[in-house]
Amino acid sequence: MVVPPTEENLERAAHLLRSGGLVAFPTETVYGLGANALKAEAVARIFEVKGRPTFDPLIVHVASPEMLFGVVAETPPQASALMARFWPGPLTLVLPKAEAVPGLVTAGLPTVAVRMPANPVALELIRQAGVPVAAPSANPFGYLSPTRAEHVERTLGSRVDLILDGGRSQFGVESTILLLAERPVLLRHGAVPLEVLEEVLGPVELQVAREHKPLVPGQLPHHYAPSTPIRLAQPHQVPPEERKRSGYLAFRDVPKGFKVVKVLSPTGDLREAAAHLFEALHQLDRLGLEAIYAEPVPEEGLGRAIMDRLRRAAQDPSRV
Ligand code: AMP
Ligand code: MG
Repeated sequence: MVVPPTEENLERAAHLLRSGGLVAFPTETVYGLGANALKAEAVARIFEVKGRPTFDPLIVHVASPEMLFGVVAETPPQASALMARFWPGPLTLVLPKAEAVPGLVTAGLPTVAVRMPANPVALELIRQAGVPVAAPSANPFGYLSPTRAEHVERTLGSRVDLILDGGRSQFGVESTILLLAERPVLLRHGAVPLEVLEEVLGPVELQVAREHKPLVPGQLPHHYAPSTPIRLAQPHQVPPEERKRSGYLAFRDVPKGFKVVKVLSPTGDLREAAAHLFEALHQLDRLGLEAIYAEPVPEEGLGRAIMDRLRRAAQDPSRV
């Protein structure tokens, strides 16, 4: 339902976000499809509603420096200077993530993308929700990014709990994304031009993905590289001797004979499975197992994105 951003509707939207709902809201770049960034199951709904066949890292939107400190593990001095100059505004910073941010938000990366949007409706919504808000553009996979509430209504409609109408997005292009590692690296051109960033930072390295080929997490600098080989297999396909030395990432049922088992969803719910996927992989990887076997999940809804991730991990473990 599309509603104007009255005091009452903002309160309702903020409450929806806090309690795990999905709210589409205006930002100065495009309309975002927001969920509580600290609740993995709420974030899983974003991927479900967008129908994305892959899990991409999301941008977390904050409304204050205090909220930022709940999302990132550290803010280098460079980050503070950039925030002072460009926030609120269309500059996204990629920084080391805080423990509290679920792996699904960052697609398993140790870093998180954050920004403070300049749209007053967005800021007020996030401030009232009191939680950081993970939000990609509010369009189904493969569609154009929405710059008006009616674009969201037409394509996502009732699958979103509420759509706040804030008029037309001012920029209509995505935010600029900057990774702050030892050196700043531009990951995406966007509404803040490179030249303007370079006035503050000096020369900035470019690692920009081509338009239709976004960087997958495994290609990003400082990605998480698990050391344990991962294979897709049903439990019975793994020889008993091998099971004793291996971990199993099960969809719903606990198989016998493995050294460790992590279950993604005891009820067989793909949303819950997606919410637990990255944490489960990280936990298994930390145990120094000989191998991790992963059970194929049904390839429907979020199952497609889960299988995409597991297949990539099985091909090349550095891509978990
Ligand atoms: P958007 O489509 O505007 O939501 O942009 C999300 C994009 O931000 C992703 O597709 C990534 O390219 C980028 N991104 C988000 N988080 C990270 C991260 N931790 N490291 C690098 N890039 C990221
Ligand atoms: Mg998008």
